[in-house]
Amino acid sequence: MKISVLASGSTGNSIYIENNNFKCLVDVGITGKKLVENLEKINVDIKDITHIFVTHEHIDHIKGVGVLARKYNIPIYANKLTWENMSVGDISTDLKFHFEKDEEKTFEEITVRSFGVSHDAVNPQFYTFENAGKKVSILTDTGYISEKMIDYIKNSNTLVYETNHEENMLLSCSYPWKTKQRILSDKGHLSNVDAANYLPKIIGDNTKNIYLAHLSKENNTKDLAYMTTTSVLEEYGFNCQNDIKILHTDDEEPTEIKNV
Ligand SMILES: [Zn+2]
Ligand SMILES: [Zn+2]
Repeated sequence: MKISVLASGSTGNSIYIENNNFKCLVDVGITGKKLVENLEKINVDIKDITHIFVTHEHIDHIKGVGVLARKYNIPIYANKLTWENMSVGDISTDLKFHFEKDEEKTFEEITVRSFGVSHDAVNPQFYTFENAGKKVSILTDTGYISEKMIDYIKNSNTLVYETNHEENMLLSCSYPWKTKQRILSDKGHLSNVDAANYLPKIIGDNTKNIYLAHLSKENNTKDLAYMTTTSVLEEYGFNCQNDIKILHTDDEEPTEIKNV
């Protein structure tokens, strides 16, 4: 399997995963035009995309879903409640598929599993992809990480993982108190420190790459997310130079396509 994080951040998210003819997107939270451009940058043609998996109905995850599905006839997968609550315009029934929480489906030798997260959407879920003993897991948009979530994503070879905000930056920023409370709550987003502290339970012998994802534009920086993650991991005895690579994502530019 190969992966590129096409865009990641509070302004829009999309991840590309491929294995031979299986070429999928997890969410399209940027415009269709931008998505096509970012795919071109990693030499992938939008016409070759075979599936779109949707995590939840927030605009930073679905902005371009409807447009792309209609224009390029791409099947969309989401759970029933998310379908009922996401604004993607009219989608013909032959492109509309259900993928419920805790379900497992196989596509072209790829096993895709969905699992629930704790976030203020109707029924948010993220996904793991497995093939030939390799696993890639995606987990952003959650206020905390349960044992059940850990069971799904632990020992992944590659992890796309939320480090949303630096708590002090969030507390002192100009957001209304209600918004701050929402982000800090159990149904909000993970701070750098909280995310880092879960990692020792998630990392296994297979874990080689961790993408720091869904960074807040106002309340985080790549450097802060990186420094917090590596310093916590090093305290736990991990070596972030050799054993595990901590990788950046960007809200505008795709990451280079990389083996899982
Ligand atoms: Zn969200
Ligand atoms: Zn989001």
